[in-house]
Order: sequence, then structure tokens, then C-alpha cells
Amino acid sequence: AKAVPTTAPAVPAAVPYLNPRLPVEQRVDDLIRRMTLDEKIGQMTQAERAAVADAPTRITDWYLGSILSGGGSTPTPNTAAAWVSMVNTFQRNALNTRLKIPMIYGVDAVHGHGNLLGATVFPHNIGLGSTRDPGLVKRVYAATAAETRASGVPWNFAPCICVTRDERWGRSYESFGEDPRLVTEMTTAIDGLQGDDPSRPDRVLATAKHYAGDGDTEYGTGEGDFTIDQGITVTSRADFARINLAPFVAAIRKHGVGTVMPSFSSVDWTEDGVGNPVKMHASRELITGELKGRMRFDGFVISDWEGIHQIPDPSVPAGAPRPTAAQVRISVNAGIDMFMEPNTAPQFQQLLKAEVTAGRVSQARIDDAVRRILRTKFRMGLFERPYAPADRIDVIGSAAHRKLARDAVARSQVLLKNSGKALPLRKNARIYVAGRNADNIGNQAGGWTIDWQGRSGDAIPGTTILEGIREVAPQARVTYSADASAPMTNSDVGVVVVGETPYAEGFGDVGGPIWQTGTPEQREPKLLTLQPGDRAVVEKVCGAVGTCVVLLVSGRPQVVTDQLGSMDALVASWLPGSEGAGVADVLFGQRRFTGRLPVSWPRSVDAVPVNVGDATYRPLFPYGWGLRT
Ligand code: BGC
Repeated sequence: AKAVPTTAPAVPAAVPYLNPRLPVEQRVDDLIRRMTLDEKIGQMTQAERAAVADAPTRITDWYLGSILSGGGSTPTPNTAAAWVSMVNTFQRNALNTRLKIPMIYGVDAVHGHGNLLGATVFPHNIGLGSTRDPGLVKRVYAATAAETRASGVPWNFAPCICVTRDERWGRSYESFGEDPRLVTEMTTAIDGLQGDDPSRPDRVLATAKHYAGDGDTEYGTGEGDFTIDQGITVTSRADFARINLAPFVAAIRKHGVGTVMPSFSSVDWTEDGVGNPVKMHASRELITGELKGRMRFDGFVISDWEGIHQIPDPSVPAGAPRPTAAQVRISVNAGIDMFMEPNTAPQFQQLLKAEVTAGRVSQARIDDAVRRILRTKFRMGLFERPYAPADRIDVIGSAAHRKLARDAVARSQVLLKNSGKALPLRKNARIYVAGRNADNIGNQAGGWTIDWQGRSGDAIPGTTILEGIREVAPQARVTYSADASAPMTNSDVGVVVVGETPYAEGFGDVGGPIWQTGTPEQREPKLLTLQPGDRAVVEKVCGAVGTCVVLLVSGRPQVVTDQLGSMDALVASWLPGSEGAGVADVLFGQRRFTGRLPVSWPRSVDAVPVNVGDATYRPLFPYGWGLRT
């Protein structure tokens, strides 16, 4: 254990920073004045729960400012009560320090509190973008905030306000769409999370991510490299501002987002002569100049998972498990305030201390970082109420939230084709349901659900699309055959539900060298085309049943041009989450189809990327398309 330096005196009980009646900035001033360099660097450090779970006193020893459950974390607790007790145990250790500064716990609750079994899982952002309803988005994120906070967690690494410009990107479903104006409108998500007062027990601190350009990178960065996640945005400053920065301006100026996470990607300015990409985690121009300067962001910047390890340093390979002195120096000086160093907190701290001692990182920069972190913690009320209440657990997966989710699902469905008015279906029809995504709640929820990469099959409680059909149309005669092997002669209509298998981040790419650790299925090339098995089921059912409705459960458009003629109706269902009945609601006309495409739908794989406003624009279905019933 680190000894408290002899220069740091014991703290009297009635100090100004502990007085909730004083203005926040005064409390910050008082507290910073009392802090040692070790304590300051501690505030700037965020470790993963796995690094402290077996020995929570490390939180005290390292003066940790924050802890997270990362998407790629070892399994986190599965009951809300266990979450509350975990977070409170960690907090007790944080408060066991000389200055009793509370830590702040963070998770990725990107479509509901998907980390927690039993939470309401909402449609991923791509589906919410289809609703074109910023008010609905706000309510969805407010429900997410209530469920997340009820489990003891006051900080959510959401929303992703990325603008997806190439659907080969494995995070396209985390985006509200390809048009910066749409994404900007949907920054109401921040309002939902934080409200007017994020200290309230049903609110959380929000994170606008990933700053910026994550969805606008070039496809492939060299020979044989087909990655797109964590790539390079090659653009002019004007286009970057118009497409990628615009949502952040709204997030900060309009909604007062509390934290911002830089992107793993790089930016390469065309006007400076392409070939000099700068990692966002190293960009002083964009973090200190643009974000903190021009946009006047007064919260704090949290680095992404080992994001600083990717800053070029000739002495180490990119993405090494430990940070280097240069990476620490460059990123702190670029303006990052808190560092997500899941497994290397002490190493980070030693390196930063050495840089400060050597004068390569200024005291003023450290104080600016700590000021921003403490200001946020005061605003969050963590000094007054550091512990999670255990009495709000009932809100998790509540009937009201599931109803809201079902409504959001119905409104997210985009009807792409409806010849002969195949939809809505009659409630007493003989329906042949097929396809591997019809009765698979894990596939329907997608990535960031229980596991980082999501989980196929019985991942979470809720209603599959098949169950939803049975619930909404109890009089219908439903035959279900996932692979369409059962005879279908007596059916009026076929409903085929196919699409994608869960993935997150880089696994959505076409191969790619940075992701070598996934299962073979995750690593298999994903070219925005349906798998052969899915194509076969479409062919079989649409060839045999008089009326054929195809639903695509996927995080992005799938190229289906050659089979479209055989389909009477085609629906983009996106990744609806736990409430499959919302899909059934629109299928049977209980709700109208009102969803509109938030991205352009490509005609062929070669025609990607395709975005509204392109000089030559020939999508299969244009941006904004969506038939009504
Ligand atoms: C992702 C972030 C996420 C973080 C913590 C990273 O891999 O890029 O979006 O917030 O992990 O789980």
C-alpha cells in the first residue's frame, strides 16, 4: 500500500469542499488545493472491475477516480442486488482515502442496461433513428438511465452520436444514421440520460462518443487490410465539422453532456496533404482546441479502452498491453482528462507521475483534468450520496419500460416493399414462420447484450418475434420451422426472419488483422450479404407460399437485390431488443408502419458506401424511404 506522503495533512471534518451549500467551483478549488500529485493522478485513472474485484483495497491504494465494467469484461454480476453491492463495496474503498473522494462507476448501457439480466433491452440506435422521433429517443434513454442507476451505476458510456457513413463498419447499429442532421436531432438521448439534474437517483452521467469521425473512416488502410473500425477519416476540416462534429456541438451546447470519449480512429486532413493521420487520442487540435476551446466543453474527456496504447510510438507495437511514457504524455497534453486503463492503472500512474516530475506534463494540465473530474462528481451529488440506493430495483425491466420498448420497436420497423398489400397480415391467417432469427432473442438484441459481442440464443428474458406473433394473433395458425424443413402447403403466408448474428466493434468487418481472437463465426467475412443458409430459407418459403414476408433482423442493411422479386413484403426490423411483440404489432396492423430509413440501402456490395447527398446516388432504397400501412 502506498503511504500518504508526509506533506499531506489529515483532513478536518468541516472543510469547505464537503459543504454542499457552497458553489461547486469553490468546492473544487478547496479540494484541489489539498490534493497531492498521487491523489490527482488517481482521480485521472479508471480501472476495470476485474483489476480490483479480488482486492478492492487497490482502489484505496491507487486513489482510483473511476471503475468500469467494460464490454469485454469478465462476466459481471447478473442480479441488480449484486450490482448494487459490488458498486457499494468499491465505493467504500474509494471513500477510505484521506480526502474521501468518491469514485464514479461506468458501464456501456447503449440500448438499455444490456449488461444486466432482466433489464429492458431497447432497439439499438439504428432502429431508434428510423423512428425519426427525438422525444421517443429521450424517453428510451431516460428509462435506460433509471434502470442503470437503480443497479448502482451513475455513469453510462452512451450515447454513441457517431454518423455512420459506411455500413461495413461493425458499429453501424450504434449510430442513429448517416445524416448528421438526424444524429444531431437524436442527441436528445443525452437529455434522457442526464435530465436537468443528473444527480437525481433516476439519472446518469452521459458520454458522447466517439469523438469524432468513428463512422466515417476509409475502408481498408493498406494492402490486404479490410478493416474499417478504428480506421482513418480522410477529410477536410470543413467536411469533418459538418458531418462528424455537428452532433457534438449539440451534445455540448444544447444538452450539456458531462463526458466525451475520443474515438479509436485517426483523422487525416486533406488540406495538410494526406498521409499524416493523427489518432484522435493524440489530437490536441480537436480535444483541447475544438472541444474544450471552441465548443466550450466543461466536463471531462475519458479515453477509450487502452485507446492511448494505439498512439504511434516507435519503441513499441501499436496496441501493446501497457502504455508508454510517450503515449501518456501525448494524450494528457492533447487534453484527455481520465484514462480508461482497464488492467494497467498503476503503470499508467507511474508513467504520468514521472512525466509531471520531469516537467513534460504541466501541473496546470493536471489541475485542469482534475478540476473537470471533480466538478462533474460534485454536480453528480456523489460527495453527498456516494452509495447506491437498493430500493429502486423494481424499475429494472418494469412493465412500463417494456411497454415503452415495445412501442419503440413498432415505430422502428421500416417497410421497404409491400406489393399487393401483403401487409398487414390477417390475424386468423395460416402463417408459416421460418428463419433462424424468428425465435432467437439473442440475435434480436445484437451486440452489447450481456456479452460485449452479444450472445445468440436464450440470452435475456423477453419476447422473440415468433412469440410476439403468437401473442398478438392468438387465432392465427402458426407453423414454425427455423430451416423451413416442415411442409408448408397449407399456409396462406410465409414470414421469414433472417439476418445477422451478434457482433460488436471490429468483428463486423470483413476479416481484419486486429481481431484475431473471436470465434470462427465472428471472424467469418461479413459482406452485408445474407448467409447461404438464410438465402436458402428465403428461396424455399418465397418459392412455395403464396404470400411471402421477409424480415431482416440485422444491425445494418443487407444486400438482397437478387431475391427481392420473390418477396411480397420486406421489412428492416433492425435489432429490436427484448420486446419482439413490437414487430408483431406492425405485422398485424395493430400499429401502423411509420419507420423511415436512417441510412441508404445499397443495391450491391460494390456500391457501398452510399450516402444521401452523394454525387451519384443510386441506392436500392433511398435515405428516408419507408412505406406506410
Ligand atoms: C468501446 C467503447 C466502450 C469501451 C468500454 C471500447 O471498446 O470502443 O465504446 O465504451 O470499450 O467498454
